Amino acid sequence: MARGLVIKSTGSWYTVLTESKKQLNCKIKGKLRIGGIRTTNPIAVGDKVEYEYQENEKIGVINKIHQRKNYIIRRSINLSKQAHIIAANVDNAFLIITIAFPETSTQFIDRFLVSAEAYRIPVILIFNKEDLYNGEQIIYLKKLKDIYENIGYNCLTISAINEKNTEIIRDLCSGKINVFAGNSGVGKSTLINVLDPDLKLKTNEISEYHLKGKHTTTFSEMLEIKSGGYIIDTPGIKGFGFVDIYKEELYHFFPEIFKISKKCKYNNCSHIHEPSCAVIEAVKSGQISESRYDNYYYIFMDEDSRYRPSLKATK
Ligand code: GDP
Ligand code: ZN
Repeated sequence: MARGLVIKSTGSWYTVLTESKKQLNCKIKGKLRIGGIRTTNPIAVGDKVEYEYQENEKIGVINKIHQRKNYIIRRSINLSKQAHIIAANVDNAFLIITIAFPETSTQFIDRFLVSAEAYRIPVILIFNKEDLYNGEQIIYLKKLKDIYENIGYNCLTISAINEKNTEIIRDLCSGKINVFAGNSGVGKSTLINVLDPDLKLKTNEISEYHLKGKHTTTFSEMLEIKSGGYIIDTPGIKGFGFVDIYKEELYHFFPEIFKISKKCKYNNCSHIHEPSCAVIEAVKSGQISESRYDNYYYIFMDEDSRYRPSLKATK
């Protein structure tokens, strides 16, 4: 039995990086199942697996998946209850944010953070294009950064174009499995290009490949950064989807709201309308930021949020 890391998946074939750093084509042993989740793909990039080498065919047969520390999943839109695992064992999600050109909304940021909390993926908030901002915008950037730092998120201001602070990102990526997310135009490709110019070429190839359709749902790949570590470049990863949680639990994924909620009068408080709600008090006193609370409220009320069926209904 040998061990390896899945770095590419086409849905039927997997590329496994062996312990001796060779790439081996692998398929899955007939009946490999993972407890609990019904997925269209039992194995995803980032999975640590065990395989048996088939001397005659020069391929590997995967027969065991190690327990995942986390995974990013996409539930299918239809009612088939099938889910697709986009990636497993992600160490860092870098969320690239710009104050302007284009402006990233706090709602986008908070939705992303909710998903990342739900998936248990550490996020680093990267404020890009510092070189472009005027005095007022710099003040706003600092205010925003303060909000997220106070909650406990790691934040970093950079200029990808001027390579300011990009060395720090390169170090953070080293030896890790990384995801870069953010709206289009915020500088993801520029930053990736700074980290390793070869990567940008490859990510473009993957995007072009997907324009042709066909493999969009099953294909995913991790690319090695020259200085160490991987980035996952997979369709659907850039915004990673939507909240896929119980509505009653939404506040669990706002760490500062969750912390204060223990002081609410009612233990099933939704922090929307109840009397003696410690969360609403904390917003009034400035302990919880208004924009964070507004986004909590908005996501809670939003009919389009794809919540799981109510906990009560399923019990
Ligand atoms: P992506 O859609 O997130 O991959 O964004 P791109 O990397 O394509 O960048 C969009 C535009 O923003 C390009 O014109 C980049 O040159 C520009 N850009 C990226 N980073 C910076 C930066 O730090 N400063 C400035 N001034 N422009 C940047
Ligand atoms: Zn409350």
